[in-house]
Amino acid sequence: MNYKVGIYLRLSREDDALGESGSISNQRDLLLNYIKDNNLCFVSEYVDDGVSGTTFDRVGFNSMIKDCELKKINMIITKDTSRLGRDHIEFGYYVERYFPEHNIRYVAVNDGIDTFNNNSANDMLVFKSAFNDMYVKDISNKLRSALYTKKRNGCFVGAYAPYGYIKDINDKHQLLINESEAVIVRRIFRMFINGISLNGICDKLTNENIKTPSISKNMNIGCTNYHYGVWSTRTVADILKNPTYIGNLTQCKQKKVNYKSKKRIHNDKSNWIISVGAVPKIIDEDTFALAQDMFKSNRNRGNSDSITSSLLLRGLVYCKECKHTIGFRAQKQITKKNGEVIRIYGNCNYWSKRKKLGKCTPHSIKYSDIENIVLSNLKSIFNQYINSNDIVTAIKKEDRYRNKLDRLYNNARKLDNDIKIINKKCDSCYNDKLDGIITSDMYKRAYNNFLIDIKRCEEEKNECIKQIDDLKKDNGNINYKCIVDNLLKLNNPPRSLIATLVNKIEINEDKNIDIYFKFKV
Ligand SMILES: [Zn+2]
Repeated sequence: MNYKVGIYLRLSREDDALGESGSISNQRDLLLNYIKDNNLCFVSEYVDDGVSGTTFDRVGFNSMIKDCELKKINMIITKDTSRLGRDHIEFGYYVERYFPEHNIRYVAVNDGIDTFNNNSANDMLVFKSAFNDMYVKDISNKLRSALYTKKRNGCFVGAYAPYGYIKDINDKHQLLINESEAVIVRRIFRMFINGISLNGICDKLTNENIKTPSISKNMNIGCTNYHYGVWSTRTVADILKNPTYIGNLTQCKQKKVNYKSKKRIHNDKSNWIISVGAVPKIIDEDTFALAQDMFKSNRNRGNSDSITSSLLLRGLVYCKECKHTIGFRAQKQITKKNGEVIRIYGNCNYWSKRKKLGKCTPHSIKYSDIENIVLSNLKSIFNQYINSNDIVTAIKKEDRYRNKLDRLYNNARKLDNDIKIINKKCDSCYNDKLDGIITSDMYKRAYNNFLIDIKRCEEEKNECIKQIDDLKKDNGNINYKCIVDNLLKLNNPPRSLIATLVNKIEINEDKNIDIYFKFKV
């Protein structure tokens, strides 16, 4: 077959942040050499400079796909798999579905991937891209930490001031009270303390056409809106629990689901960043404390919300019979052995919301049973792969690197020591000459030999140091061994990893659990 080759070059912000040694021109040189060495026919190059690998919607990439459709090219070469993209799911789509369906050969030079060669490296594509995925996650954490520091220092860094406040036009990191909203905040606290339920508060505010925080926010930024909105218990509860209102600026109350998504979820309270006294108070401490106490006594089902929202398999579990989601809730139980424990149970949501109509059946199941089965399944799949594949190679390579480095360091230390010993011998020889034990001639000969030995040792030592430097240069800053180990043990697997590997989990009436993976098992 005659291959018409397109080369794809990409460099991005996250590569820059990590000092990735792969400028566009380096990538181009590498790929053009590969084409020459393999007698391939170069047709075109596609470049995305400064575009993140987490999205596949890139100008260069899109025009390359267009040329595939027009059959201008039938082979794509990149430096490594992460150049094509770091999003695991999209990557899998192109490499496993799109390219084969369009009869396009894909080669990642440095990873030894060639989709038209049947080698074990290809079986590992899905895992390679899972690594790439985790790698970006790591970077996106690093990039976020700069903002985090600002928050720690009590600077307000949000795009919009919290309800009741307004950004100081002289310093966007400082908040001032927005009196028209602050009045509502005080009223909400007063109503709650006087025993009005959250629902009751919502009804009152909605009926009085008081604008909800999200509508006020839109108006503050200049949108015109003739609606007032419907107050939700969640909004009211968030206001009642927000320590910002007693002057303690509270940030990081929400977080992004992950680096790919813009969706925000509630952050665990332990991760909030609270800067005491950083903003003016709207509520006094006593009122606030009283409201918190009232929340505590109202809560008798365990802290259901925050527990179930952090479940590893959240959003992936469905009812086999009716295909609706399985909902989870925490229950306090008294056991003889451990006293009070919180257990999480799931039920078919269709059943629990329409009990009276007799739709579906309970599908009651303990959450921990599902998680255990899913994780042990994943572990055994990983272990099947470990016997004959790239993961082993990656670990071995990492081991070889560490061993080699250790050997070189040891050697350098030994040579250093040798030099000291020779110098000592040289000194004692000189003393022997002074004491008349050896003649001047004998000393001279010995001295010349010592010098030769020292020179040889020093040369060897310098060679060692050079090798250490070269070795470090060749081995990038990713610790694959660590990533792979964690992957295999599934220690605290990130939810993003589970979501990239597992499509859905179905529970049937008899509590059987079916797992659907996103890759071929
Ligand atoms: Zn159901």
